[in-house]
Amino acid sequence: MTRSEELFYEAVNFIPGGVNSPVRAFGSVGMTPRFIKSAEGAYLIDADGNRYLDYIGSWGPMILGHANPLVLQRVEEACKKGLSFGAATEAEVDMAKLICSMVPSVEMVRMVNSGTEAVMSAIRAARGYTGRDKIIKFEGCYHGHSDALLVKAGSGVMTAGVPDSSGVPEGCTQDTLPAAYNDISSVEKLFESYNKEIAAVIVEPVGANMGVVPPVKGFLQKLRALCTENKTVLIFDEVITGFRLAMAGAQEYYGVEADLTTYGKIIGGGMPVGAYGGKKDIMEVVAPVGSVYQAGTLSGNPVAMAAGIAQLTYLKDHPEVYRRLEKMGELLYGGMKELCEREKLPYQVNRVGSLGCMFFTPDPVVDYTSAKKSDTEMFRLYFRHMLEHGIYLAPSQFEAMFLSDSHTEEDIRYTLDTMHRFFEK
Ligand SMILES: *Cc1c(COP(=O)(O)O)cnc(C)c1O
Repeated sequence: MTRSEELFYEAVNFIPGGVNSPVRAFGSVGMTPRFIKSAEGAYLIDADGNRYLDYIGSWGPMILGHANPLVLQRVEEACKKGLSFGAATEAEVDMAKLICSMVPSVEMVRMVNSGTEAVMSAIRAARGYTGRDKIIKFEGCYHGHSDALLVKAGSGVMTAGVPDSSGVPEGCTQDTLPAAYNDISSVEKLFESYNKEIAAVIVEPVGANMGVVPPVKGFLQKLRALCTENKTVLIFDEVITGFRLAMAGAQEYYGVEADLTTYGKIIGGGMPVGAYGGKKDIMEVVAPVGSVYQAGTLSGNPVAMAAGIAQLTYLKDHPEVYRRLEKMGELLYGGMKELCEREKLPYQVNRVGSLGCMFFTPDPVVDYTSAKKSDTEMFRLYFRHMLEHGIYLAPSQFEAMFLSDSHTEEDIRYTLDTMHRFFEK
């Protein structure tokens, strides 16, 4: 038995499924998870000393690669001054100013501890601001695990094979109206039926939790127009796309501004951080200025702020990172597409910038329904082959591949060669 297997069989006795987040389990690919001991750059080392080229990047945060020396140094410095004060700090002011300086639509921001919390709080703020209850979400979009949003959610919910989680009372989801991603008419219908009751539309500007599903041309613009017309708050959940597709995330990439934006992943540089922000008049409904209550004992934690500030500052000072990520995305996902064409494989490669994935279906993937058509048995074989050759993909068809600034052209060539060998068989 490998050390990873030993740890896993021990873990299942004490942790449900042996993991602290379902997406880490290898159940859907019929394997046991690798336990990771350390990481550096684009590589992970497991408990048995195996080295993997990593395409998860902690599900997005590690955009500069693992164990970035600059981030680590800032964290070490912050640690020495104390881990938490439960009081206001200068680092929080720096972080808020930094985010506002990088994203034009964000005038004010509140730090929280996860993407889940960011989304949950942004929705509460939107409801408080509009005095309305209903929200529109899209099938296959994942917005964390809070009750109201576990309706046709993507990510681990998709591989669990359940459309909605149990343990969520109907009362918690009765105001959540699901629409079809990339289908603006499904949104228009909801606006017609629930005229002036819709507080917010929340969307992943690039669907990245049902595999990668880019918005079709005009989709985000039309959402923007519908929200403006109906005085509904448009929330972009940029927990994945924020500071990844561009400095100002998908809003910059597609030229559409949100009213509220939620962040997570990259802004913590690997520490547990989330944030929500937007127009001042909306954000000022939040306590202690306004009447929408939202709080957090460890929110704005100094060590977490140090990591986040170090990573974001680097990105702000080095915009060439985005050009490089775009180029590497073209190399990897363009190469995957070429491979499919050359080998006449009836598969789809979807990509936006450094995010991408392969779907094992002959039909274009534009939403939850078309993503679900993917042959997950084929994915299982592909995943296993890649892992056996030292390439660590997300153990699910319905997750993105994440490139970091540490991935090299040589890494990508090796990845494409390894894929080629799989499809040759
Ligand atoms: C990961 C993710 C979340 C939840 O963030 P957590 O930090 O895991 O709570 C929310 N929205 C999107 C788009 C995500 O990808």
